[in-house]
Amino acid sequence: MREVKALGPDDYPDIKSEHCIVKRLLTKEIWDQLKDKKTKTVGHTLEKCIQHVLTLDDQHIGIYAGDCDCYTDFAPIFDLVIRDYHNVSESDTHTSNMDYTQLKGTIAEDCPILSTRIRVGRNISAFGLSPGITKEQRLELVELMKGAFDQLPEDLQGKYYPLPGQPGGMSEEERVQMVKDRFMFVDDDPAMKYGGMHRDWPEGRGMFVATDKKFLVWVNEEDQLRIISMQKGGDVAEVFARLSRGIKSIEDYIETKGKKFGVLEKYGYVTSCPTNLGTGMRASVMVELPGWKAEATANKFDTGKKYLQKFFNDNKMGLQARGSRGESGGETGCMYDISNMYRMGYTEVQLVQAMIDGVNKTWELEKQKQKASS
Ligand code: ADP
Ligand code: MG
Repeated sequence: MREVKALGPDDYPDIKSEHCIVKRLLTKEIWDQLKDKKTKTVGHTLEKCIQHVLTLDDQHIGIYAGDCDCYTDFAPIFDLVIRDYHNVSESDTHTSNMDYTQLKGTIAEDCPILSTRIRVGRNISAFGLSPGITKEQRLELVELMKGAFDQLPEDLQGKYYPLPGQPGGMSEEERVQMVKDRFMFVDDDPAMKYGGMHRDWPEGRGMFVATDKKFLVWVNEEDQLRIISMQKGGDVAEVFARLSRGIKSIEDYIETKGKKFGVLEKYGYVTSCPTNLGTGMRASVMVELPGWKAEATANKFDTGKKYLQKFFNDNKMGLQARGSRGESGGETGCMYDISNMYRMGYTEVQLVQAMIDGVNKTWELEKQKQKASS
């Protein structure tokens, strides 16, 4: 890893990502006010929060929190970034609603959905977030989670797999297969690497998988926990219902052990990346869209993902298009991951609803495009 020289007392950070939000909003005045502060939970500094953009030149945001305290201790910059990115105002507060029975309608029967997945990021406030968590806290989290997994409702029961190279860890073949099956995370994201999230890799990292593979928990990746519900087909309500049961079971358990998920009144659930604050939720479907892909190529877009994203933005649908191999992976064939773009300013139910409605609209147009080209 390229070493970046630590800043001296009079230095102002040289942010390499020219277009990131932090570069635009950070001022010398804010920097001077915050530069010597250290957070209580893990002693994080503002310099550490922005360390990845002192190297990387292609980032959009430019700041990660190293513990929950960062959002209050470094509020003069985090508040500006959060309001800018999420388009929320100073007086907004966060409301959560996971009542899946309030969803209206579902994804059209004939829409070729490979699978549906909803995940949330959750972090225990007593431990650092991924960029700042200590080695000891990481391992303590794993032990705590093993207890949480053991007491899950019967249908969510399964097995915890540490990453290869740790005691009781999965084999390299198992890891590769789980990545292929889209269950497992990979360590290929430069922002996470330069943001300090890969320290001591693979220690303390692993994944819980339910026996039926419909409920998963990533441990010590970008967030301490990514709680995931997924299954084949497009039954979003079933996926959502399972997720909320799983979250509640884990939350109830950690509370019996005197721990709590980090929540801020203004910003909702705490996550290491300010883009995930709020619900911490991303609800996605994996869907094949050959008509959209063909049109993207005809319109000289280098990826179908960009073409779809333009459609979502132009129509203010609040959706994001990703390729079939995750945020940092590539686009294969005409398979897209379509999910809610926002995490904050809306309840979970509203965000899932936006995904359902948007996918239906995209599918209607897909059918027209296929008809036109046949
Ligand atoms: P996250 O927002 O959860 O970090 P990523 O974009 O990093 O998501 O993707 C994580 C993994 O989940 C990738 O392998 C991705 O292809 C997979 N994935 C996302 N949505 C779905 C879905 N609806 N069905 C199956 N796999 C999915
Ligand atoms: Mg990710």
